[in-house]
Amino acid sequence: MTVGLIEMEQARRAVLENIVALEGEPVELDQALGRTLAADVRSLHPVPAFTGSAMDGYAIRAEDVRGALHETPVTLKLVGESRAGHPTTTAVGPGETIAISTGAMLPPGADAVVRVEDTAAADGRVAVRVEAQAGQDVRYAGEDIPPGRTVLAHGARVGPTELGVLASLGCPTPTCTRRPRVSVLTTGDELLPAGEKLTPGAVRNSNAYTIPALAQRLGAQVTQRLHAPDNPHATETAIARALEADVAVICGGVSVGAHDHVKGALATLGVDERFSGVALRPGKPTWFGTRHRTLVFGLPGNPVSAMVTFILFVAPALRALSGAAATSERGTATLVCDYEKRPGRAHAVRCALTLCEDGWQATPTGPQGSHILTSMLGADALAIIPSASGSLHAGDRVQVELLTPWVGCGL
Ligand code: AMP
Ligand code: MG
Repeated sequence: MTVGLIEMEQARRAVLENIVALEGEPVELDQALGRTLAADVRSLHPVPAFTGSAMDGYAIRAEDVRGALHETPVTLKLVGESRAGHPTTTAVGPGETIAISTGAMLPPGADAVVRVEDTAAADGRVAVRVEAQAGQDVRYAGEDIPPGRTVLAHGARVGPTELGVLASLGCPTPTCTRRPRVSVLTTGDELLPAGEKLTPGAVRNSNAYTIPALAQRLGAQVTQRLHAPDNPHATETAIARALEADVAVICGGVSVGAHDHVKGALATLGVDERFSGVALRPGKPTWFGTRHRTLVFGLPGNPVSAMVTFILFVAPALRALSGAAATSERGTATLVCDYEKRPGRAHAVRCALTLCEDGWQATPTGPQGSHILTSMLGADALAIIPSASGSLHAGDRVQVELLTPWVGCGL
């Protein structure tokens, strides 16, 4: 490790040590997509709530149709109907049947359903042309979820299936962790909004778009979008505002240049430094500190460095604040080409992943300079090459951390 820099994993631990999950709040089910459950969800009633039919047909007593064949059907007396949402109180007695729809309650006395295709009905009588086993085409109460079961655990991310399960359980307002409030501050005299005319020496402010977008993909609320020019006073004023959030992300101005004022302003504002500098490429100047419960990240300004360090340090923090597992999905892949590296700093290499017969293969997305933002296009993962490692060869195994779905086009 390079002197004065801490290792990436140590830096991540330092971030997570400072996190207490945010409080829970009731959230309307139709607003809960992407939220994290703050409490376990238990079933108060069985799902399905009653024993019903899986088919359109006739509710019968299996013993009544024993020996029924296509040529020699058993004829039953039709004594009623059970429709979905309209159960009948009439029971099925010996030699009787009740017409039933898919999803309707099984009437008392019946223990099976024969499909309408296997019957012929006329004049209040139903000819059943097949035998049936007790339980045939019957859905029993609690078959999906028995009462009292913990169906969803706290920390679970609410996706489409979770929404459906919560609806099935009769849970209209699940308790979800409050969304972290994130402020994003970009710094630099050279930076221009996307729509303004380029002037000599100007750089478009891409971090003002990538960083809030990443935060939003992680379920955070971006409450402040700020920009400060490179002067100490403006930097301090902007940071003071950014500190109102749960998480303040400051991009650029965090290195040691004559016009980098972020660290000085953070010290003046009483933000306690937890680390400054990580043995990582890209991302060496990454800074982290806290003030009360606010987490403060100083990310290097280069567009790739800002995204990569957000992904490696801020994303786990946002997940932990939401009460979810902090770690991203990891695995190993085979590197398809040689990769040159000197020991000293870990490298986070943007890679496309392809699934081959022998498992996942990782292909670097092209030039890996910290200003080559297009190296993030088509990147499925970051291959993390440890600081002690030297050059790698095609065929070597590398650890990868998945970026998709929240960096790419997926939702
Ligand atoms: P800094 O970290 O402020 O020293 O900036 C390092 C490099 O990143 C410089 O080339 C800056 O122009 C560039 N940079 C800083 N902030 C941004 C930003 N918000 N969007 C795009 N490039 C940036
Ligand atoms: Mg700068």
